[in-house]
Amino acid sequence: MKLHICHLYPDLLNLYGDRGNLLVLYRRARWRGIAVEITGVSLGDPLDPKLYDLFFLGGGPDQEQGVAAGDLLTKGPWLREAVEEGAAVLAICGGYQLVGRYYRTAGGDILPGLGLLPVYTEAGNSRLKGNIAVRSPCLDDPRPVVGFENHGGRTFIEAEGSGEPLGYVVFGFGNNGSDGTEGCICGKVIGTYLHGPLLAKNPHLADYVLSLALKRRYRGVVLPPLEDELEWKANEAFLRRFGRGVGERENKKGVTLARSAAG
Ligand code: GLN
Repeated sequence: MKLHICHLYPDLLNLYGDRGNLLVLYRRARWRGIAVEITGVSLGDPLDPKLYDLFFLGGGPDQEQGVAAGDLLTKGPWLREAVEEGAAVLAICGGYQLVGRYYRTAGGDILPGLGLLPVYTEAGNSRLKGNIAVRSPCLDDPRPVVGFENHGGRTFIEAEGSGEPLGYVVFGFGNNGSDGTEGCICGKVIGTYLHGPLLAKNPHLADYVLSLALKRRYRGVVLPPLEDELEWKANEAFLRRFGRGVGERENKKGVTLARSAAG
């Protein structure tokens, strides 16, 4: 088995350890005997839509994001074809904004996105910054997804679209600081504001992304569990430190975290 990952704009979109997400996916695949090839693709590079199982985009400041946005539009048809044929996408923060419909910057410029997710983003007049925990209904394991967010953009999921929130905020801001949602998932395309890197302290989400990517070429793959004691300790320490232990206590009792806008 072999997984092909495309890292889009590694030189422009790589804030707060975003590249670490690929290292996590690489290791978790290798520990299960799955070969992995990671290819960086940036400005002006062609992209083979048939080759990749997963596309990854990190976050970036507005200026770098603007440079990447122009080029990303030229790659749009390839990316759409890849997604239609079953490729998965994980996009963080600035990358998340770019796979949505558009991002209107604080300066009023509109950066058109790929529309792979039914979301749009408008810059606000303050930054939504800090540690965040969310509960994700996509994951069988109810333990929260934790990370760090720092964005000026407020993202909204279109009511008529087929996108769902990736999660519901336990603490932190999430998509816009007002509706309690965080990120968006539509088919195999995932966008989120969580840096960190996201996957290092969230093994349940890491394996979910890995499974989505593997499904493109291999049917019925079941990932054998890994020894994730350290990863969960990091997740729990995060909750204890920044969430006053609430998530951890509830997890130990086996109770699904319920403090969300939706719940
Ligand atoms: N420039 C975007 C914003 O501030 C994305 C920032 C990021 O990727 N961290 O909303």
